[in-house]
Amino acid sequence: MSQAAIEMIGVNKWFDTFHVLKNIDLKVGSGEKVVICGPSGSGKSTVVRCINKLEKHQEGIIRLGGVELTNDPKSVEAIRSEVGMVFQQFNLFPHLSVLENLTLGPIKARGLSRKDAEERARHYLERVRIPDQADKRPAQLSGGQQQRVAIARSLCMEPKVLLFDEPTSALDPEMISEVLDVMVSLAEDGMTMVVVTHEMGFARKVADKMVFMDAGEIVEQGPPEHFFTKPKSERCRTFLSQIL
Ligand code: ADP
Ligand code: MG
Repeated sequence: MSQAAIEMIGVNKWFDTFHVLKNIDLKVGSGEKVVICGPSGSGKSTVVRCINKLEKHQEGIIRLGGVELTNDPKSVEAIRSEVGMVFQQFNLFPHLSVLENLTLGPIKARGLSRKDAEERARHYLERVRIPDQADKRPAQLSGGQQQRVAIARSLCMEPKVLLFDEPTSALDPEMISEVLDVMVSLAEDGMTMVVVTHEMGFARKVADKMVFMDAGEIVEQGPPEHFFTKPKSERCRTFLSQIL
């Protein structure tokens, strides 16, 4: 059997005395798409932040490609280069051009020459369908374009896994689909993806597995056909009835 891309086994995390993640078990196979949903404050962001070590867990095991995450700075660095993350707020550098935002990581962290980094950046700008925006500053772009730049920036690091934390929540409604379309096409290309979102149309289209969280727990996980038609728990039914 091929190695799971991500494995969380019995993961517990506390913020001080607040038990934010409770016995999280989650497996993401290579090439799999997992969509996480659940009410605000249920721990979704904390799960994805633990996967790329933006947060530390206190108990349990997290493995990436079969290798356990430790607090060793070398391990943290290795994770950052294997796991891309796209946030709700795009987190682009405002004083840099789009192209410079995209070449910074590959030049600094991957040792690419400027020429190779620019070639790669243009390739991924094409991939997110904004090849002609390379010389603009982020503020000159729409929210949907900025988020696509953020996705291209992640792709420029050629990660094995992409994590998305509510990538369309900060966008005006008319810009949501241009970002989701790019995400669907990445999914079709076989990218391993963990996506926190309430965009259930997207989830139905791409998810191999749906995960529902509430109060720090994974209450339910399974294939979308079961999840949407016969959720097992009352909490999940209630949640779905509110957002669908
Ligand atoms: P979600 O993404 O599902 O909305 P989060 O993972 O952001 O949930 O947060 C889960 C819970 O942990 C919330 O109650 C939130 O207030 C709390 N929390 C998140 N980050 C911190 C932090 N750095 N310190 C203390 N509490 C936090
Ligand atoms: Mg969140």
